[in-house]
Amino acid sequence: MTLALGCIADDYTGASDLANTLTRCGLRTVQTIGVLDDALTLPDVEAVVVSLKGRSNAASEAVERSRAADRWLRAHGAAHVLFKICSTFDSTDAGNIGPVMDALRADSGDAIVLVTPAFPGTGRTVFQGNLFVGAVPLAESPLKDHPLNPMRDSNLVRVLSRQSKTKIGLVDLATVARGADAIRSRLSKFASQGFGAAIVDAVFDDELERIGHVAIGHRLSVGASGMGLGLARAIVASKGGAQARAASSSTKPVGGPIACLAGSCSQATLEQITKAEKSIPVLRLDPEKIVSGNSEVERALDWARGHLSDKPILIASSSTPDQVAGLQKRHGREATGHAIEQAMAAISERLVDAGVRRLVIAGGETSGAVVDRLGVPAFLVGAEIAPGVPVLRAVGWQRGEAVMALKSGNFGGPDFFNDAIRFMP
Ligand code: ADP
Repeated sequence: MTLALGCIADDYTGASDLANTLTRCGLRTVQTIGVLDDALTLPDVEAVVVSLKGRSNAASEAVERSRAADRWLRAHGAAHVLFKICSTFDSTDAGNIGPVMDALRADSGDAIVLVTPAFPGTGRTVFQGNLFVGAVPLAESPLKDHPLNPMRDSNLVRVLSRQSKTKIGLVDLATVARGADAIRSRLSKFASQGFGAAIVDAVFDDELERIGHVAIGHRLSVGASGMGLGLARAIVASKGGAQARAASSSTKPVGGPIACLAGSCSQATLEQITKAEKSIPVLRLDPEKIVSGNSEVERALDWARGHLSDKPILIASSSTPDQVAGLQKRHGREATGHAIEQAMAAISERLVDAGVRRLVIAGGETSGAVVDRLGVPAFLVGAEIAPGVPVLRAVGWQRGEAVMALKSGNFGGPDFFNDAIRFMP
């Protein structure tokens, strides 16, 4: 297997989103959970997305894991590696985008790195270095209240400068609009002035294609799925075009009960839970009880056992920004997030013991905790449920066949849970 593209994603739902984009662009793609054991044989693929849980870990840990993933990808032939970040640039001033970028850049030998979280297909655009979420600047969007990475500054040149040791430039939209050569010449000017990275504006997919065309000539880039789209299109064009092909995998229906778990507190997920309550049984966990060590997991399992045989079920810890803030104030941000993620992971494990092989998980960190606990080594990317959310089929899992969907909190339409259920064979 010689990879045309290697990717390192800083969370699991982001990895799914990227793997979905690459597949849609015509690259056969597998998403691995962490760096794969060489004993596991992968299907013949052109791109691998290594999913890490690096977004909210200590920067040193994120750096170490990302470097290990980079070495694995390079050893499997990847000439270019994309460090995939969230399209809302989720990170605090302590990292981790800047430190990981700095380390991977040093390893790659690149003088300057192109950075853009733009993904117009999901409403993420960058203009004059400012990230917009739909019509509003990042710092005015619901991301300002994210439980782990509240984003209070929309200017990514500033945000990344606070995290990175290198100087950060801006390749503005006017330059991008002039084409690949204009972008290259701006980058080499920045490099000669000692800048190690540049935020690149992009508002439409056309710009991402130009950016991808330039980025593929480097060894490293940093971006969201939009950057993946640009890179994939550049790779496919260099091969003279390709048809979207799914990697060979079983299409056998998995069957059995379906369970959805929501640990995201994003506005979109909160609406999706309210909508799901109209058609499927929903259990709302008591987050206070989870964090103070009470037996919410057992209560959830008792409840699930009574419902699993008939309809799909949904178990949610999610609450509103005010309630999240109150809980964090009482118990601390990290302890709160960790306790709830571990409770969700424990619930998922017991649901699998009870026969569940079709799982829908809402929330990036939540998905990470669940998939880690279940020990799934890799997924093949299947049909697209909603933009950025594919059906994933487990590869090499000891518990056998399974399908899952890992949804970033903000993704999906109001009826996402029912949409996902319809896509799970
Ligand atoms: P998203 O994709 O929306 O960012 P994540 O799962 O990545 O979702 O992050 C949500 C975080 O909030 C997780 O750490 C989760 O455990 C935590 N969490 C879930 N429910 C609550 C709650 N009710 N109060 C506080 N934090 C919560």
